[in-house]
Amino acid sequence: MAEDCIFCKIASGEIKGNVVYQDERVTAFRDLNPQAPTHVLVIPNRHIADVRELDDPELSLALMRGCRAVAEQEGLGSGWRLVTNVGPDSGQTVFHLHWHVLGGRKMGWPPFPA
Ligand code: 5GP
Ligand code: ZN
Repeated sequence: MAEDCIFCKIASGEIKGNVVYQDERVTAFRDLNPQAPTHVLVIPNRHIADVRELDDPELSLALMRGCRAVAEQEGLGSGWRLVTNVGPDSGQTVFHLHWHVLGGRKMGWPPFPA
């Protein structure tokens, strides 16, 4: 666990997050400031800053399976989006790897405001 990392604390249960899915490798919980009717964050239980540090095939697959489990649970059959920000210029604000699972509304493309 990284010191003072809010997502480490949610994964360990030290801080109560709105957890919707958890297994031995990953935790999923609702975003505090949702950008879509479903906005869930899927994180590795151990601290990794971003995808540049993700080098474990089993963990990578566990994260994708966690995202899929969330989409199924939330009934996002008609389409959903996975986003991960990498570094400050992307808009990353929490430096513990997380996939945003977004759905329940029609999405725009490109994903950033003009
Ligand atoms: P980023 O901008 O790093 O890609 O995304 C960080 C996300 O974490 C944001 O969407 C923000 O709303 C969410 N967030 C920040 N702090 C907390 C928190 O303490 N609890 C939860 N559930 N979400 C958080
Ligand atoms: Zn962390």
